Amino acid sequence: MRFSEEFLRELRARVDIVDLVGRYTEIRQPGSRNPKALCPFHNEKTPSFILYPHNQSFYCFGCGIGGNAIHFIQNIEHLSFPEAVQFLCQRVGMPMPAEQVDDAYTAMRRRCFEANRAAARYFHACLKAPGGEAARAYLQKRALKPETVTRFGLGFAGDSWDGLKKHLMRQGFAEDELVAFNLCRRSAKGTVYDAFRSRLMFPIIDLMGNVVAFGGRVLDDTKPKYLNTADTPVFKKGQGVYALNFAKNNKEGVLILCEGYMDVIAMHQAGYTNAVAGLGTAFTPEQISLLSRHCRELILCYDADEAGQKATERSLRLLAASSMELRVARLEGGKDPDEILRTEGKGKMDLLLSRASGSTAFELERVAAGIDLSTDEGRVRYVNAAVEVLARVGNPVERDLYITRTAERAGTGKAPLAQMVEAARKKRGRRAEYESFRRDAEAASGALSVSRGGVIHNPEKRDHLLAANAEETILASLLKNPDYLTKLRGRLTPDVFITSVNRSMFEDLAKRILSGREADLSMYQENAENEQVSYLAYLYTLGDSIAGTLRECEECVDTLLSCRVKEASVNAAGISDAEFVRMIREKGSRRTPSP
Ligand SMILES: [Zn+2]
Repeated sequence: MRFSEEFLRELRARVDIVDLVGRYTEIRQPGSRNPKALCPFHNEKTPSFILYPHNQSFYCFGCGIGGNAIHFIQNIEHLSFPEAVQFLCQRVGMPMPAEQVDDAYTAMRRRCFEANRAAARYFHACLKAPGGEAARAYLQKRALKPETVTRFGLGFAGDSWDGLKKHLMRQGFAEDELVAFNLCRRSAKGTVYDAFRSRLMFPIIDLMGNVVAFGGRVLDDTKPKYLNTADTPVFKKGQGVYALNFAKNNKEGVLILCEGYMDVIAMHQAGYTNAVAGLGTAFTPEQISLLSRHCRELILCYDADEAGQKATERSLRLLAASSMELRVARLEGGKDPDEILRTEGKGKMDLLLSRASGSTAFELERVAAGIDLSTDEGRVRYVNAAVEVLARVGNPVERDLYITRTAERAGTGKAPLAQMVEAARKKRGRRAEYESFRRDAEAASGALSVSRGGVIHNPEKRDHLLAANAEETILASLLKNPDYLTKLRGRLTPDVFITSVNRSMFEDLAKRILSGREADLSMYQENAENEQVSYLAYLYTLGDSIAGTLRECEECVDTLLSCRVKEASVNAAGISDAEFVRMIREKGSRRTPSP
């Protein structure tokens, strides 16, 4: 739907960006001019996510995302523009405008949700119908109760090539839609057929209760064992966490992370309603941030086999940068949570969870595995590997405790081990300190960020540093002083710009200013690419580090013109003398100020 500019302005005025962001990540110095936070969009330990209350914007110097309150909600809740507006209206108690006309993108997303929901119902019906015997037998073998099957909306895709397609087309969906929503595929010959066949179906549901995708598991040994929906208008690979729609309501702030969908479902059936799983891929920063918003402690409960332990190690490394406390449950007596619950019962699982060790203990155990500690050579290898693990432990009490344990286990003295750990920490510390110093300096002064922030958004900046800096100054200056556009008329034209990102940003700004409308973050509101919004938010952050005078702008235009002449002469070898002279004259003529 389209919203009037006045409506959006009022909505933005009612939402306080610091308060809004504070619901997702802890704000440091909320009362200061530029409060900081750990970025909810990427993993970090030193905050580089900066809020600018005076213009109600945010920008992350780590990953380069930026925008206003509406952009923030679009990105963090994965909503379309109108959905984000509705979300914020509800939050501040502002009524939505009467006329509800969907824009094309929102309409497509709605269709996709509808098709997914209809498909989930169809799969569920197939599970109960004749033809679903094998799937029902499988669920029975796994001891799933009918109410559990219903709660998770489990279903079955039969072995027909077009059962789902025919069903959804009867409900008014077009072939093209079904292909776009990845419920069907199109063969090289153009035939459209069902994407999932002969699979047990797990609907993946987002936090708003929409079916966003499906996971399909084979009932035999066919590969791949699991198949997930590919990217659609409502789902991207690496987004979302399975069963978080149920688990998010747990009060203790603890989540249990399992490897597979069946494990999660078995855990829920046994009363562990805080169990979740990833979606078959390595954890993305986005998923980690989503998890850390819903718990303070995460217990990894992966399969007991070597593959499961390797996966645990990998996940621990990815999760280490988050603020969550990590623990690892060791599944002795079974191969996965599902099997333990079936063969040993809930009492055993309770015990295993309560004994879950910290991530340090787990890593030290992994280090020791396969090393023969009865030989001197083995002990030295163990100590060297353990030092790396121990040096990463930030808490001094915890570190000291594990140094003692490790020394005891290796049969060495504690003092030399402590020395080795300290040396390794110093080496690590210097690197980390330098990194954090650099980021702090960038965020505080805006000076170093001129280079870094710019390069994220403008790849041409690497090769045209001087020009790109001048262009950024001009653009940041125009945001503060739109009147400079007319004051510099004749001199400040799109072809003065050397890098294409800045040229098109200038064209957008100029169009907006000349039409008498505000040139601010709201100009990239509907149908905008994230990238444009973030770049504009970045340019806003430069506001404090430039003079912002007309004189400065003029000097920047001069810089750009001389950059162009220099580049032209470098390339001059390839063109005739006459052409070269004409080119210089052309550039020169633009230097004369217009009357
Ligand atoms: Zn970030």
